[in-house]
Amino acid sequence: MSTLSLDTPLLVIGAGIMGAGIAQVAAQAGHPVWLYDLREGAAAQALDKLAGGLQALEAKGKLAAGQAQAIAARIRVAGTLEDAAGAGLVVEAIVENVGAKRSLFAQLEGLLSPDAILATNTSSISITAIAQGLKRPRQVVGMHFFNPVPLMKLVEVVSGLETAPAVAEAIHALASAWGKTAVHARSTPGFIVNRIARPYYAETWALLQEQAATPAAIDAALRGAGFRMGPCELMDLIGHDTNLAVTESVYQANYGDKRFQPSLLQRELVDGGLLGRKSGRGFYDHA
Ligand code: NAD
Repeated sequence: MSTLSLDTPLLVIGAGIMGAGIAQVAAQAGHPVWLYDLREGAAAQALDKLAGGLQALEAKGKLAAGQAQAIAARIRVAGTLEDAAGAGLVVEAIVENVGAKRSLFAQLEGLLSPDAILATNTSSISITAIAQGLKRPRQVVGMHFFNPVPLMKLVEVVSGLETAPAVAEAIHALASAWGKTAVHARSTPGFIVNRIARPYYAETWALLQEQAATPAAIDAALRGAGFRMGPCELMDLIGHDTNLAVTESVYQANYGDKRFQPSLLQRELVDGGLLGRKSGRGFYDHA
């Protein structure tokens, strides 16, 4: 039986853009949280930054006095996955690669209780494929947050072929209890939002490749048309490495459908280390 409550211990794996945000939101909801990253020091660094962000919110009056400290204190760095063996829910936010995600979950199956739910924040990879070969594929589910996690309301709850309905329901209920807007989706390439958003990015890359407009002009146009952000600044926020991996995954999963084709310019940015905000430069300078 899959039950989750606001005191279920949570393990967030991957302390990058998304994992740090997920840890913060879970701790704000009351969970004890472990944060783990393969790269030494990354989780501690993310926790420091997150604590600083919470203090800034408190200083602005957006959190009650003492709340920033209380929320940050609920998050602990896990030095190893074994440290977090008591977790009832895992949310992984590691690299967008099916093999990496599957082997991580296989390892966790040997460490955690059989009831533990293994949720993935994948943007595009089949939940069925991630669960393939695992002992308990019914416990695997997509819990897809949007960037920045503390601000964006949406969570796509994605079921693979084997996901137990009770597991998807438990994640939907939990996301709602965190104040998010949860929607159910079946596992198809890109789920709902990325299915619709990929061709939007593809047209942006086509305009850039044709030198029809600069990134700033494209962003100004889309903002002027009512979008909160333009596509170039949004891709800088997502991170071009992650965004390329998602594009490639959706393209391959659709048997090379041209609507989802990655761009050579996109590859060029990644090869040059121009990953967006995370590296200090992408379309724009973020230093
Ligand atoms: P990121 O590059 O900012 O962070 C990934 C982190 O995972 C890094 O700190 C890395 O050291 C760590 N990591 C990699 N392999 C690991 C492993 N095997 N074990 C533990 N840690 C590992 O990436 P991100 O943007 O946070 O994306 C993470 C996931 O979230 C991806 O699946 C991505 O598709 C998805 N996602 C990203 C966004 C976005 O806007 N960036 C939005 C929604 C979903």
